[in-house]
Amino acid sequence: MEVVVNAAMSADGKLSSLARRQIPISGPADFDRVDRLRASVDAVLVGIGTILADDPRLTVKDADLRARRVEQERSSNPTRVVADSRARTPTDAAVLDDAAETILLVADRGESARGDELADHAELINAGENRVDLRDGFEALGACGIETVLVEGGGELIFSLFAAGLVDRLMTFIGPLVIGGRDAPTLADGAGFREGEFVDLALEDAERIDEGMLLSWAVCDGAEGSTSP
Ligand code: NAP
Repeated sequence: MEVVVNAAMSADGKLSSLARRQIPISGPADFDRVDRLRASVDAVLVGIGTILADDPRLTVKDADLRARRVEQERSSNPTRVVADSRARTPTDAAVLDDAAETILLVADRGESARGDELADHAELINAGENRVDLRDGFEALGACGIETVLVEGGGELIFSLFAAGLVDRLMTFIGPLVIGGRDAPTLADGAGFREGEFVDLALEDAERIDEGMLLSWAVCDGAEGSTSP
């Protein structure tokens, strides 16, 4: 499976504010780039933290891009996937609308009354016991025919994906603002890597877009860090 992480961050590496509220970091040209990226993949993945904070719809905005997918005999939008161990996705979340298929990766605890309720709105896939095991989850997605995944946040999930050695490429848009705050989400939160476990990247491209820079990185070592995801 090919896994690309894309995120917009401030010049000081924050994904959003201290209050974990979405902040406009990029601009129209970068939105279009992300829309094209979304249109190119089989699935878009986010963590439940992003659903609860931003309520994103995660669909392709440009009608021409959706039409092109249909011409290629694909669904008009990629499948939306949420890593949501405890089935906390609200039933009225935008990601559960009819515009695209949605898969919730849940852990055993997702098999609850909440899980049953959500099963009317999305496909629930059990992967892991207390928390979603991302390797198991990706294997299940592969069995559903998903070969390319775009990860759109947030920092907790992105860290776990790096820790599990599941990321192939990273695209970071760095925007012209400083958000600050030690508790504001960063690109890779979680427990952090110990020395000797850091993920090495190779810079593939740097491009000025809107008022910031887009950096495209390849992940060099697919080796799994020993830090628990
Ligand atoms: P997140 O990464 O979206 O979601 C984290 C949650 O995912 C965890 O708390 C966990 O909840 C669930 N999860 C399930 N399996 C997991 C696993 N194996 N590893 C890690 N998490 C797993 O949340 P976040 O870090 O709080 O990020 C949300 C913030 O990022 C918001 O402020 C949002 O605005 C911002 N954001 C910014 C961008 C950007 O590009 N600038 C993009 C997206 C989000 P359970 O244990 O309950 O499953």
